Amino acid sequence: LFIIIFAMNLKRTLLLEVKSQGYSVVIGNDSLSHLNEFLNGKTYSKYFIIVDENTIEHCLPAIVTNIDCLAEAEVIQTESGEENKTIEIVTQVWYAMSEAHADRKALVVNLGGGVISDMGGFIASTYKRGIDFVNIATTLLSQVDASVGGKLGIDLGGLKNQIGVFNFPQMVVIYPPFLQTLEFRQLKSGFSEVLKHALIQDEKYWEEVKKINVSPDYDWENIIGKSVQIKNKVVLEDPKEKGIRKILNFGHTIGHAIETWHLENDPDFFLHGEAIAMGMIAEGFLSKEKLRLSDKALSEIVTVFKSVYDLKPLPEENFESYCGLMIHDKKNSGGKISCSLLSKIGDCKWDVFADKKDILNALTSYNKTFT
Ligand code: NAD
Repeated sequence: LFIIIFAMNLKRTLLLEVKSQGYSVVIGNDSLSHLNEFLNGKTYSKYFIIVDENTIEHCLPAIVTNIDCLAEAEVIQTESGEENKTIEIVTQVWYAMSEAHADRKALVVNLGGGVISDMGGFIASTYKRGIDFVNIATTLLSQVDASVGGKLGIDLGGLKNQIGVFNFPQMVVIYPPFLQTLEFRQLKSGFSEVLKHALIQDEKYWEEVKKINVSPDYDWENIIGKSVQIKNKVVLEDPKEKGIRKILNFGHTIGHAIETWHLENDPDFFLHGEAIAMGMIAEGFLSKEKLRLSDKALSEIVTVFKSVYDLKPLPEENFESYCGLMIHDKKNSGGKISCSLLSKIGDCKWDVFADKKDILNALTSYNKTFT
């Protein structure tokens, strides 16, 4: 892991560059000029920017004015939302690129949150057997989490991330001012991955992040930098998720099942980070059961998550369906559910197996925190 910090000029403008798997993640107010210089040194045949209705409005103007070669780019607009992370949308974008004569030397710029970066990265990685792409992450969630690790893909029939590849962008750009226009609920959703990074790896970082009063005005740059470095360290150690990378799934075994069920069946479904927050509380109880996470740590986790998120009890009649989704998850086999759980704050173990009864108990304990 290499970290280079450039002091770019006299204003408060540091650029943090984190080296990941063959590419850099650049973070800071100068990240757009850094991308400009990088692209000025390349020769692409054509440029495509994938956006949604929010990023075309709030982020595209800064991109086309600050990055010379993107002023003339073809802009492909998709509809926002997890329900659009599908093969149908991918096909439409492939057609749009093909009709615009994109060849193998074209560049795709994904301008958006995790939905656009997962899907746009997949589109670029498969178009003509793979063309270059750059991710400009515009939500807190995509900045702190989806920016690193090379997981790209789409959902299948309501099941999350079932189709995809591991592949890497030329560069990931994180320009913190984009967070100013993000809905507050989306900002908090992204913050759940920050809390997760602290819980699984760094007790000192937890002490810092648990006190943050989430708001668009908070100075996020430092937090984004720390979270990216934590995730990057883990993925560099275990790129294909054979071992330690599984700790990034803390909260996701139960959280993904909740997210998937509600995405399919509930018009007011939970955002990714909200479902993961519930998952982390429930898996906190499972951690106490399986790894003796202390009562003090567990109660602090519950208090912090409840203070940030407007959480509610989950309908008990759904518990069986959540368990069904977990049992069919690609990470599990033989009815045993593989979890990543906390032994203490800052330490996470992986391949801890739970059965259906354990999961039902964890969900019941989550609900009991509301009584
Ligand atoms: P998202 O991409 O759906 O974006 C959330 C909303 O914010 C959208 O409506 C979007 O249009 C809007 N938006 C984006 N930037 C904006 C801005 N600057 N101002 C105003 N509005 C803006 O959601 P997300 O939370 O960023 O990402 C969730 C996705 O990321 C999920 O599909 C999840 O599976 C995926 N993910 C991937 C990884 C990975 O490693 N690849 C990791 C975590 C999550």
